[in-house]
Amino acid sequence: MTSSTQTLDEDPAACVAAGDSRLRRGGSLKFFYGPMDCGKSTLALQMDYNHARQGRRGLVLTTIDRAGPGRLSTRIGLGKEAVDVGADLDIRGLVRQRWAQGIRVDYLICDEASFYTVAQIEQLADLVDTSDVDVYAFGLATDFRTSLFPAAQRLFELADEVTRVQVEVLCWCGRPGLLNARVVNGGIAREGDQVVIGDTGTDGGSPEGAPEVDVRYQVLCRRHHRVGDLGPAARAEGQLRLV
Ligand SMILES: [Zn+2]
Repeated sequence: MTSSTQTLDEDPAACVAAGDSRLRRGGSLKFFYGPMDCGKSTLALQMDYNHARQGRRGLVLTTIDRAGPGRLSTRIGLGKEAVDVGADLDIRGLVRQRWAQGIRVDYLICDEASFYTVAQIEQLADLVDTSDVDVYAFGLATDFRTSLFPAAQRLFELADEVTRVQVEVLCWCGRPGLLNARVVNGGIAREGDQVVIGDTGTDGGSPEGAPEVDVRYQVLCRRHHRVGDLGPAARAEGQLRLV
């Protein structure tokens, strides 16, 4: 196996001094964001595939994925083994460890990045700047109250490129769905913890052992998020509950 020439402290000037005259383009940090169901995880896997087929080596990371720890899954049925990003994972340390084992890491695919810590986003930026690792981060921009997730905010501040993922996801009214609403027992929630895992509509049931509160998420246009209108189907269901 060829040993990796990457080091965390690789410095362009040192490379030139050492006779490495490669033109260094540097890595880049790109953030792709959009509401749930807009195809972010599918794009993440496509990105991994495109790089891997060019002979590049990467790592796929995710956190609180719908398939559980250690796996990135998509609503359309694709999936891949992934490193689970717990709150105390040092992503720089993880990459350094791979290099120490002689494993190349040219790029990182970071799904659900809005649920990483701000410190982990800083680690990603470090990897780009000091080691030319390309980082592709995917996630939600805003929470159910339309406030930025702290990690998403940091990505907006630091990323070289920010892209809104444009797979059409529509509000019930037909307008582009831009915002996630948290629906608790049939009504739109305006306060609560920033991260609450709900039923995202893929299996129709709540996880075993979950409390009796029914939490789900629904994508709405800004207008209907602001007035809290979940649409005719939800209104009909609400009336049924009253009967
Ligand atoms: Zn709407």
